[in-house]
Amino acid sequence: MNFLDKFRYSFDNLNEIENIKNEDKEKKNIYNNPFLKSLLSNSVKVTNEIFPKISEAIDQVFLRLKIKNNFNFFVTANHFQTQAMCAMMPQSSNAEIIITSKMIELLNHNELQSVIAHEVSHFYYQHSLYPNPDKARNRIEYLNFLHLSRAAEISADRAGFIGSGNIENSLRSMLKISSGLGDEHINFNFSSYLDQLRELKEIKGDQSQLFSTHPTFLNRMQALIWFSMSHEYHEFFETDKKGIYDLKTVDKKIDESIKKVTGGEIDISNKEIVDKALLWGALWIYLADKKFSKEEQEKFSKRFGDKATVSIKSLLNISKISVIEKKVMEAYTLASTLLKSEKEKIITKIKEIYSEADEHNDKSREILEKIIKLLNG
Ligand SMILES: [Zn+2]
Repeated sequence: MNFLDKFRYSFDNLNEIENIKNEDKEKKNIYNNPFLKSLLSNSVKVTNEIFPKISEAIDQVFLRLKIKNNFNFFVTANHFQTQAMCAMMPQSSNAEIIITSKMIELLNHNELQSVIAHEVSHFYYQHSLYPNPDKARNRIEYLNFLHLSRAAEISADRAGFIGSGNIENSLRSMLKISSGLGDEHINFNFSSYLDQLRELKEIKGDQSQLFSTHPTFLNRMQALIWFSMSHEYHEFFETDKKGIYDLKTVDKKIDESIKKVTGGEIDISNKEIVDKALLWGALWIYLADKKFSKEEQEKFSKRFGDKATVSIKSLLNISKISVIEKKVMEAYTLASTLLKSEKEKIITKIKEIYSEADEHNDKSREILEKIIKLLNG
């Protein structure tokens, strides 16, 4: 186990995605991608002979990250975009990293190391296994995928920091990449950038950030600063300080901070879908014996409120069970697109509801099993 695993941002979690399919891996084969193919054939491979400085920066990074260099690095002529990308086949043992010429020109030797380490870690963490948000089946899945994609950047930034040996290298490179400006213009004063972040939160975030695959550079800088204040960081690197937070607290603060900037929609939508699934699931279980008994109504009311109970009762008066089953199907089709942790919440609660039901017979057990099956898609 590499220390990168220890420092991985906890919300960057591949387990949130169920059944990462083999066919998807096939589709992600970069050598089938004409854009990347032509990019690679039009780029110059970094070797110690041609680009000694870049090559030395790369060597430094692998020494610090303590991982093996199975990568090919390329530089491509592009004076407009400050970009680096990691092209990889998921679960293969090597990857290609392409850096634009503008990036190389803009960053100094140490700052460049933070970018190299960032890209290398995308491979190490196997971030390409995350589904492409454009493949999402609905809006909430799309938003959840984007949130995971932003989380991946937080882990990669930590690797960038560690791989360059100093937080200042990472922060400076973020500022340079975001502004496009070089040393001459940048007065390195991060407290003023954090003021900018505070302002962004006060206006309740920026909607466009909700649709971004990367967190804003303000969030990213703040996330790194908090990380550098963790007990775990100081302990591992044997600094003489102790740090202020444990890493778990840091991760929570970062998640909250990103969510503040992106607005509350993700949490609200996730909760609505979970609540609906529980309500219809509970009703289905209670109706296994075709009766909604007084005791069941009370339990239902305690969990979902009087208002919901009243409207369910009037619905039951005028509808057949097939109408209820249709509602269940709708709720669980939607819930099946949630991330794994949300689905697990539903399963735990629905089992609780089942254990409280009037009776436990083959029929109600069958319903419980069906619900869990629906949820897993
Ligand atoms: Zn990245």
